[in-house]
Amino acid sequence: MFSSLPLLPADPILGLSVAYQQDTNPAKVDLGVGIYKNDAGETPVMAAVAAAEALRLRQENSKAYTHPAGYPGANAAVTRLAFGNNHPAADAGRIRTIQTPGGCGALRVAAELIQRARPSATIWVSTPTWANHIPLLGNAGLQLREYPYYDYQSHSIDFPAMLDALRKIPAGDLVLLHAACHNPSGADLSREQWQQVADVALERGFIPFIDMAYQGFGEGLEADSYGPRLLAERLPEVILAVSFSKNFGLYRERAGALSVVFRDSSEADAGLSQLLSVTRALYSMPPAHGSAIIDIILHSDELTRQWQEELDTMRNRISGLRQNLVTSLNAIQQQVDFSFIARERGMFSFLGLNRDQVLQLRRDYSIYMTDNSRISIAGLRNDKLDYVAQAIKSILA
Ligand code: PMP
Repeated sequence: MFSSLPLLPADPILGLSVAYQQDTNPAKVDLGVGIYKNDAGETPVMAAVAAAEALRLRQENSKAYTHPAGYPGANAAVTRLAFGNNHPAADAGRIRTIQTPGGCGALRVAAELIQRARPSATIWVSTPTWANHIPLLGNAGLQLREYPYYDYQSHSIDFPAMLDALRKIPAGDLVLLHAACHNPSGADLSREQWQQVADVALERGFIPFIDMAYQGFGEGLEADSYGPRLLAERLPEVILAVSFSKNFGLYRERAGALSVVFRDSSEADAGLSQLLSVTRALYSMPPAHGSAIIDIILHSDELTRQWQEELDTMRNRISGLRQNLVTSLNAIQQQVDFSFIARERGMFSFLGLNRDQVLQLRRDYSIYMTDNSRISIAGLRNDKLDYVAQAIKSILA
């Protein structure tokens, strides 16, 4: 039976990690994988998470199933985290939230819901977008198309081209937007641009489908959810897929949430029943541990404060590294102005190097990044900035 299955190539990012691990050069730098690291190159459990886990260990007295929508209590808390307190769509009973296995689970469940509601719908994704969006959404049977987003020449969003493309999208299609910290470009919509996207969505009748994987990593928890909050205020229907992998550091626990904003509360009830029937057939129930931790943190003022402080530290480290990398690069060469790196947000930026230059950095300097020159900023360390800058200077020459 299985002899018909060919061997598939390794995932490029995971392949890069293996190559990095096998590299014996002590100067090596991993700018590949999108995991937050501190200045010691580690990804420790956040202290607020460890404290919540200790509490949970003492309190949990059963491993019986939780609810199909996830750990009780957490859904209301994560809805508030995403949409803020007293969001009009929440107050009107139009939002339904379920916990999902990570942001990936949320994206896939949303795609299955769309497939049930409108199998002919196309999902429009930004050029470029996170590579895994394509199989996650496409494998649910939906058609994907692209709208222009990042301009590699100017290192910024080509917003006129984006708007132009959005204005041609048929009613009933979906547009995938990144709430903040666009992966892979780091180029985010401004508030004015979000407003214009909302205007066009209203005008055209397309449905925003927002991926929020980095809330708190860009400008802060409130600012990074400006887009979803605005669109949920101004539009009848919005889909929001949330990941807690980065902002709670819960990567392996697979913690995420899917919130859908419906036209009214009776459509919301029907929609929730459909969501639960989708998940029942896919994995029955989401994992409970990560959501329980989030629930404990968000229901404790003290742990929430501690978690937010840790999140602020992570965000400040990333923006500090961005600034320091620009300073180091621009101080030693004039060929390329790298100041765009400090204007971008979140984990990633494109350096704008070609594939040969990327391979040269890997071969000659043991500096690892994806072939399209996307770097994961948190993989940098302040004591390696000069080494990385010198290496980039040498391959530009
Ligand atoms: N969306 C984007 C843009 C991401 O970068 C990620 C994680 N790399 C995810 C969603 C999903 O993350 P997870 O399933 O690990 O929560």
